[in-house]
Amino acid sequence: MTTPARALRLPIRPELAGEEPYGAPQLDVPVLLNVNENPYAPGPEVVASIASAVAEAASGLNRYPDRDFLGLRGDLADYLAVESGVRLSAEQVWAANGSNEVMMHVLQAFAGPGRTVVSFAPTYSMYPEYARDTHSRYIAGRRETDFTLDAAHAAELIRAEQPSVVILTSPNNPTGTALPPATVRAVLDAALEVDVDGAPAVVVVDEAYGEFRRDGVPSALELLAEYPNLAVSRTMSKAFALAGARLGYLAARTEIIDALRVVRLPYHLSAVTQAVARAALAHAPSLLGMVKELRVERDATVAWLREQKFDVADTDSNFVLFGTFPDRHAVWQGLLDRGVLIRETGPEGWLRVSIGTREEMTAFKDALVEVAGL
Ligand SMILES: *Cc1c(COP(=O)(O)O)cnc(C)c1O
Repeated sequence: MTTPARALRLPIRPELAGEEPYGAPQLDVPVLLNVNENPYAPGPEVVASIASAVAEAASGLNRYPDRDFLGLRGDLADYLAVESGVRLSAEQVWAANGSNEVMMHVLQAFAGPGRTVVSFAPTYSMYPEYARDTHSRYIAGRRETDFTLDAAHAAELIRAEQPSVVILTSPNNPTGTALPPATVRAVLDAALEVDVDGAPAVVVVDEAYGEFRRDGVPSALELLAEYPNLAVSRTMSKAFALAGARLGYLAARTEIIDALRVVRLPYHLSAVTQAVARAALAHAPSLLGMVKELRVERDATVAWLREQKFDVADTDSNFVLFGTFPDRHAVWQGLLDRGVLIRETGPEGWLRVSIGTREEMTAFKDALVEVAGL
């Protein structure tokens, strides 16, 4: 049986026509500084704990996993209490396969057709995709030229657009900028004044890079008790050196969590994922041990780039946005040719480098000196 050679026609949703799947290039080069991973692999003790936890989970894989995974949620709450000083119950924590899936749950529950999601650009490029995939309208407000967020602009935009979900990213990707509590409060206050079917807007503060914030920079977790419309999302992908495990989570009051439980797919978090995450959390101090070193290396990278007279955004993350280059693609390619992969992202002319080991950062600096002719 032969089919005539012609393009296969599919009933793809019109808004997906011509869309490419999201993702940075995954290239096999010696120095990977492009997706903000933690450069330090889990140590042998952590690997052994994870392996035995997975073996134990494997013996029960004929059964569906624990749908509500309160054990893992309790462990995450315990971790947050230590990390930020904010005590939450297991029921105030939610988790999914990466904070990407957590954010999809948020939009599936609170956005949707006829509703609006607001964020502030330049920011994480996945937000418009979550909005598209949940049939929500996406509006991007602006950040200032130094990448801070003007509280009055944010409040005004929220008043005008009446979103059901506002996403704040702090520290922001790809700029590294952390938001001061006063700005987060201004957004939360404006969101409380929103009227979407009689309800205020939910504000999600995406703290994927929270553990890298500089001393004295508070977490939005501290505002949870005060604001019923706040949710704070975190991930084990960055500071926890566990990007491959896919575990993101969110803290909020139980009414918000209960709405997320309605839209999650049945048994979305596998028994293996739950076991891996719990085993890793038991080793939080050692997994997070390198965060301090990465922050030191980050601050040193910022200082070095400034000495070379680059523009460098202030950063509370494990990456640095720097520039500006008349032809940033040429610089990105020049670094790649020297075995160093960074990310061509952010406003025109800027490049983003993730913080790696000291050796990797030396390779980055040596390559940049050559490419930029310093
Ligand atoms: C990396 C990142 C995440 C994490 O995504 P996971 O799905 O948890 O790996 C979330 N938000 C931002 C802004 C990020 O940069």
